[in-house]
Amino acid sequence: MKTNDNSSKKILGLHHVTALSSDAQENVDFYAGILGMRMVKKTINFDAPEVYHLYYGDREGSPGTLMTFFPYPGIYKGRKGTGQMTVTSFSIAEGSMGYWTERLKRFGIDHTGPRQRFGSEELIYFEDGDGLGLELVATAGDRREGYTYGHIPEKHTIKGFYSVTLNQLRHERTAQFLTGKMDHLLLAEENGRMRFSPSNGAGTLVDVLAMPDGQMGRGGSGTVHHVAFATAGDDTQLEVRERLDSSGVHVTPVVDRQYFKSIYFREPGGVLFEVATNPPGMAIDEDIEKLGEELKLPPWQENNREIIESNLQTIKFDSKKFADKLCTTTT
Ligand code: ZN
Repeated sequence: MKTNDNSSKKILGLHHVTALSSDAQENVDFYAGILGMRMVKKTINFDAPEVYHLYYGDREGSPGTLMTFFPYPGIYKGRKGTGQMTVTSFSIAEGSMGYWTERLKRFGIDHTGPRQRFGSEELIYFEDGDGLGLELVATAGDRREGYTYGHIPEKHTIKGFYSVTLNQLRHERTAQFLTGKMDHLLLAEENGRMRFSPSNGAGTLVDVLAMPDGQMGRGGSGTVHHVAFATAGDDTQLEVRERLDSSGVHVTPVVDRQYFKSIYFREPGGVLFEVATNPPGMAIDEDIEKLGEELKLPPWQENNREIIESNLQTIKFDSKKFADKLCTTTT
């Protein structure tokens, strides 16, 4: 295998994961409430302004921590399967697993595990209310700080992504795509799971699961819409775009997503990939301290604010409802 030196890499790791959900309030309660991630942006789907686009992440909404959702009320349920990104894994501190298994139990969320993978990681698998596949992975060495609203102890907060998992009928095509066009290297292999990364470490890992007899997935609530990889800026994004385009990959023009710029394309197994710029980031239209508090619209939709707001479900978040000990007094 070709060994790339880091300086030539245009893909840095994971940027965000975007999934489909049904009820927006349940989505907020699960990700900000139970998992305790910070809601860092409340905006709309730029391609479907009647639908929210909700972002959860760390304090600044850093790339590599951003889990985002399009909640479509009443949407049909999807089915996990091949040609999909099936599991989003979040990183927690070594020693936090006991805390999380207890916490999930308290909120009535079933999990499987803990079990070991690749020797050094301990994980549990569970699903959100729409059936989206999630893991918490405890390892040593992830120095990123998670955010807390105060209802989860700082030392146990989610730090950001650990990895994502793609289920593939013909995994070798996806493997070649990641190594040949996406700056990834094969790091490890275990039980039909190949692990890739452009560097190494939490927030950069892509696992490809070989499922030659698997059933095709079907989009809908509880499935991932796309996974986005981070690139340093406009120049590196254009270089990636040129690289893909010149090798025959159908890739979109650069699209302005307000918080980053994006290009989209499908890997050979059918998963929608995006390459997103790290700048300008979540603080471009609100203070870091106030991230996620107000509905933010892209400048070209501000004139339509009234109609857009009237079409959206009202969502509220009260972290106290999700404290470890049930709050019996009201303040
Ligand atoms: Zn995206």
